[in-house]
Amino acid sequence: MALFRERDSKRLHVKSKLMGESLVGKTFLSGINYQRCFRAFPDVNVVKIGGQSITDRGAKALLPLITEISALREQHKLIISTGGGTRSRHVYAIAVELGMPTGIIAKLGQSVSEQNALIITTLLSPYGGIKAGHDDIPKLGAYFSQGCIPVIHGMPPYGYWEHLSKESPLPPNRTDVGAFLLAEVMGAKQCIFVKDEDGLYTDNPKVNPHADFIPHITVKELMAANLEDLIVERAILDLLASSRNITRIQIINGLKPGNLTRALNGEHVGSIISKD
Ligand code: ADP
Ligand code: MG
Repeated sequence: MALFRERDSKRLHVKSKLMGESLVGKTFLSGINYQRCFRAFPDVNVVKIGGQSITDRGAKALLPLITEISALREQHKLIISTGGGTRSRHVYAIAVELGMPTGIIAKLGQSVSEQNALIITTLLSPYGGIKAGHDDIPKLGAYFSQGCIPVIHGMPPYGYWEHLSKESPLPPNRTDVGAFLLAEVMGAKQCIFVKDEDGLYTDNPKVNPHADFIPHITVKELMAANLEDLIVERAILDLLASSRNITRIQIINGLKPGNLTRALNGEHVGSIISKD
């Protein structure tokens, strides 16, 4: 960045490449010379604990995971992102019936994922669990250096400004998207989704027992497959295709003890969706 002085007024300006641009021009945008994206936390793992798939199952599903996480914290830095689950579905159903705008529905979902963040933080309190809000991202460095396990609610903070979707009034960016974008902005090591199935199938395995397991697929292949249903929010696919830091996500079955440990140790235990 260069400084220059205006001839007449002698005012000092910063000569920037974006000066005077609309920031809309296609050629201009594609010509921006962007350096490698800064990764603040390349050794931190973002782990999303599913709302419907894990937390709603109560003690049987959640407590073994808490025990596993408490043992993992010696070797791995973790931040936990929480889903909403069935209570989100209830409030969405009521709000849709009442004609609530998408931005209101998104706000309702947010408060449920926050309830789950409070529950999980409380369970992790003996092991350094600390509830983090969205404004606490710049404090994460201090939390990790003290051995804390931050727990953050998964709903991205679009809130009233949530994007609109052609398909339905439901917020298209929910807690899977929130976990993914958190990993991306942190420059995290990886983003793991802990759910109640072994990973991605060609169809919802709870509905279609003949669905085939997909251990690895690229975003492009998955978009082309145009599956009827997915184990992660569909909006993730576009985001992964445009990501700069997180180039793959892994979905694992958190009902099987040891899976999270194996995934954090670099094993391929579930399904991997990769950018390329
Ligand atoms: P979470 O609570 O983690 O957000 P969801 O219940 O929203 O989890 O999504 C996980 C569920 O998605 C699985 O339990 C499974 O029944 C369903 N599902 C739908 N389509 C698929 C698919 N193609 N492959 C695997 N699971 C799928
Ligand atoms: Mg979900």
